Amino acid sequence: MTLADIGGTSSGGVDRQALSAEEIEAWRCVMGWAREADLQVATDDAGNLFVILRGSDQKAPPVLSGSHLDTQPGGGRFDGAYGVLAALEVLTVLAERGVKPCRDLIAVAWMNEEGSRFAPGMMGSEAYAGVRTLEEIRAARDATGMTVGKALDQLHAAFPGLPRRPLGAPLGAYLEAHIEQGPVLEAQRRVVGIVTGIQGKQTLEVEVRGDKGHAGTLAMSARRDALAAFARIASALYTEIGDHDPQVKFTIGHLCVEPNAPSIVPDRVVMRIDLRHPDNSTLTALGARLRVLCARHATPCQVQLMPLVDAPSNIFDTLLQELIETAAFRLGYPSLRLLSAAGHDARHLASLCPSAMIFIPCRGGVSHVQEEWAEPEHVSAGANVLLNVLFQLVRPI
Ligand SMILES: [Zn+2]
Repeated sequence: MTLADIGGTSSGGVDRQALSAEEIEAWRCVMGWAREADLQVATDDAGNLFVILRGSDQKAPPVLSGSHLDTQPGGGRFDGAYGVLAALEVLTVLAERGVKPCRDLIAVAWMNEEGSRFAPGMMGSEAYAGVRTLEEIRAARDATGMTVGKALDQLHAAFPGLPRRPLGAPLGAYLEAHIEQGPVLEAQRRVVGIVTGIQGKQTLEVEVRGDKGHAGTLAMSARRDALAAFARIASALYTEIGDHDPQVKFTIGHLCVEPNAPSIVPDRVVMRIDLRHPDNSTLTALGARLRVLCARHATPCQVQLMPLVDAPSNIFDTLLQELIETAAFRLGYPSLRLLSAAGHDARHLASLCPSAMIFIPCRGGVSHVQEEWAEPEHVSAGANVLLNVLFQLVRPI
């Protein structure tokens, strides 16, 4: 709740966007708690924040746990912050009890998970995992034209002398605690979600091209109206893709019409499509079907598709899933295995080291809104499971 005050809005939400003054303040707050617990702090060139409990073997790859401190513009108190603070609490408990882990145990806050100020999101984990280069990430701009590079330099300047860890340094394991952001755990009255993986998604940009014309004089039969073609395409996609089965998620969330003037037949429409499905073969088949439907219904206009993201569902480490399930069982928390419908930094870490996620319920399944809420007993249950699993991974020899 103290952290939620930083960027807190009058309506009870949080506006703490990536690399903003508010996020710098949140770093200061978390670093204060870390130093009170005698933990060390560090960063890296991508603006990730690390809190470190030193282990006895400095050659062994560290175990990492965390999430992100940035929020959506009208975000809530738990998305991201929960995973960072749960990890910090685990380190604090171990440090207070004088536990010296067999290898470094590190709490992490990844830079720009949300992607609302600087798009796309997950920049810190992508830079760490080598999905995108730091140069590419530093070049991205916000709505005011400010680059990630400049904002990153400002963040680092606010904390002079902070040691830097190398990007991509080997890791032993990664665990992320997070609110579910969906309704499943609450509906089934479970306290702990063992996340099996992250739902696959394809995003693409579709451009429809026709010809401009006078709205009063050009005969309907002679028109190549890009918006009319879009309407046919969209209708076919909602029916054939969106209604394919109950698990599909199909969204046209962005639309651009040109010249967007009341008396001119539009000659260009651009849409962004977000398509998700837990089953990879279905996702691939729907993606292919989508291309056929676009081509068929565009006539007499032309259509071009540009794939932006093609990420199949991933599977988290099965041994870590078992450790989470066993810990939840021993602590008496009813649990459930489920696929994450939303994306998380853990997706990128999974390509570097054994990775997994722990979900807790959130009220009404809602997230990215000011009403976002998790019950205190669920917050502590998730952190207890995290403590038990992390302790097994760094147990003193
Ligand atoms: Zn999040």
